[in-house]
Amino acid sequence: MDPVSPPQDVSTIYFDGLSSRRRVVKLAFAGALEISEDGVAPVLWAYDDIRQADSPEGLLRVNCLSALPLARLDIRDASIASEMKSRCTRLGENRSDSRAVGKIVGWSMAAIVSIVLVVLFAIPYAADRLAPLVPEAFERRVGEAFEVQIKALFGSRVCNSPAGQAAYAKLLHRLREAADLDGDVDSTVLATTDKQANAFALPGGKVYLLGGLLTKAENPDEIAGVLAHELGHLKHRDSMRGLIYNGGSSFLIGLLFGDITGSSALIFTSRQLVTASYSREAEQNADTVTIDVMHRLGRSPKPMGELLYRVTGKEGDKSLSILAGHPLTEDRLQRMSKEDRPPSSPPLLSATEWTALKRICDGAAQTKK
Ligand SMILES: [Zn+2]
Repeated sequence: MDPVSPPQDVSTIYFDGLSSRRRVVKLAFAGALEISEDGVAPVLWAYDDIRQADSPEGLLRVNCLSALPLARLDIRDASIASEMKSRCTRLGENRSDSRAVGKIVGWSMAAIVSIVLVVLFAIPYAADRLAPLVPEAFERRVGEAFEVQIKALFGSRVCNSPAGQAAYAKLLHRLREAADLDGDVDSTVLATTDKQANAFALPGGKVYLLGGLLTKAENPDEIAGVLAHELGHLKHRDSMRGLIYNGGSSFLIGLLFGDITGSSALIFTSRQLVTASYSREAEQNADTVTIDVMHRLGRSPKPMGELLYRVTGKEGDKSLSILAGHPLTEDRLQRMSKEDRPPSSPPLLSATEWTALKRICDGAAQTKK
């Protein structure tokens, strides 16, 4: 390759890295960059070793990996600068100056912000749209997978005294018909401590009523209202939506904190399903189902509000999590009270059936109270 000598009307300054002397040099683009000063034997810089450094506007400042660390060239001439840029293909690499660090920090922040945005907006959006599209057979299998975990969580004590089961099945059947729910409902009462007063729905038509809630209930309408609320979650496929939502969020949160195994994500998701932390909107919609169902059965939704109020107390004790994440029980009781109507139908269970339901856990191994 022939040396090319570009016009040198704007001086190019070279610092050799040993002294602070500014040297006006000429550059020649040969097999390597030739830096020459008044006929002195030229300094050669391999093009691949040349890197750009931070510089003021209108100036190309470069140094060379194989030269002394402080050696540098300041190029003012635009045509020389562009010739440099075309020959030194690795000019922009390995820049560790403050601007590059700033860029890395900037991009990391951007990544975190975008993950947060995805968690806040994209996942709920996707969950809302995906949940109704999940085939029922798949949803059922997901529910079965969770069922194993749920039963393990509560010690697998299924309440099934025959008379209690019969009363429970009768109550559920009436609620299901009034809720106009397609698909099967598979509901189980689990023996728990009195403190575990909860009920929740899982994907695939599974509803769990915990013995603690049954213990606190004073009449069939209270339990009916709670079950109707859970049927509302099933009807709106809230648990599938919650699963996509929480699964997606915890996957991304895991990604942020370096846990990509997803194992903690799954545990987190199971907990979320149990505490049933749906959105306030989902809760209100499920409450609407309770109101509709109870009215359709000629009964009042108010007893459900009273039961929840009894469980959580004023303002709600968050540790009794039936309703952590649910609307304030006072607000709910108020809403249910507004919808209160004198019963126009006989009780959903006879006194005998109600007593049997209250005792459904009697045969199951009791946990310490
Ligand atoms: Zn709920």
